[in-house]
Amino acid sequence: MRIVLLGAPGAGKGTQCKKIIKKYGLKHLSSGDILRQERAEGTELGKKAQSYMDSGALVPDDLIVEMMAGAISEAGDVGFVLDGFPRTVNQAEKLDKALEAKKIDQVINLIIDDKIVMSRMTGRRSCPKCGAVYHVKNMPPKVAGKCDNDSAELIQRPDDTPQVVTKRLVTYHEQTKPVVGYYEKTNTVYDIDSGQDADQVSDVIFEKLDALVSA
Ligand code: AMP
Repeated sequence: MRIVLLGAPGAGKGTQCKKIIKKYGLKHLSSGDILRQERAEGTELGKKAQSYMDSGALVPDDLIVEMMAGAISEAGDVGFVLDGFPRTVNQAEKLDKALEAKKIDQVINLIIDDKIVMSRMTGRRSCPKCGAVYHVKNMPPKVAGKCDNDSAELIQRPDDTPQVVTKRLVTYHEQTKPVVGYYEKTNTVYDIDSGQDADQVSDVIFEKLDALVSA
């Protein structure tokens, strides 16, 4: 199965992807995670991406397309879920070319209100040591500011501050939302209300993907 998961930043793409790959044994290809890894390793790509990411802008298409084409070919034939890519119509067109005859089987679009995104993202905190993710209101750690697993000081991602989230939402509406229209021309796009509980969202996704697997 080849799946594209679309949605605004903070719509829960990462959370849903983890659930999908666990159930269907697919590869999770997150452009944001790969970029953060490149930055952590101090690679050329990571250095180039840094300023765009920290300001809430998109990293240039050519860099992203090359990076994701590499990740897709490494994934081999097991199938994948794309998370955060494509984020522009140009990226979607290039992805189609790179996949050649292998078509995307399902596009899932997580729909969420901007106000919910703002509250979800600005409240998000993560552990720099083990990667655990918390939310100051919705999923607080046992001791404020400390990771439950290893007591490390929790941090806020530089792109989760209110100013950068505002910019990321503008970027999403201007550049990424048109990707939904792009896929509507050739694929069935499955819209899901992502303002509900994560387990409710995944139940709906699983129903759809189960039908696809048994078709
Ligand atoms: P994410 O974790 O998916 O929200 O991505 C974090 C940041 O990485 C974004 O705000 C962009 O700066 C950059 N990024 C991730 N994926 C892409 C993409 N497909 N195209 C351009 N920039 C991207």
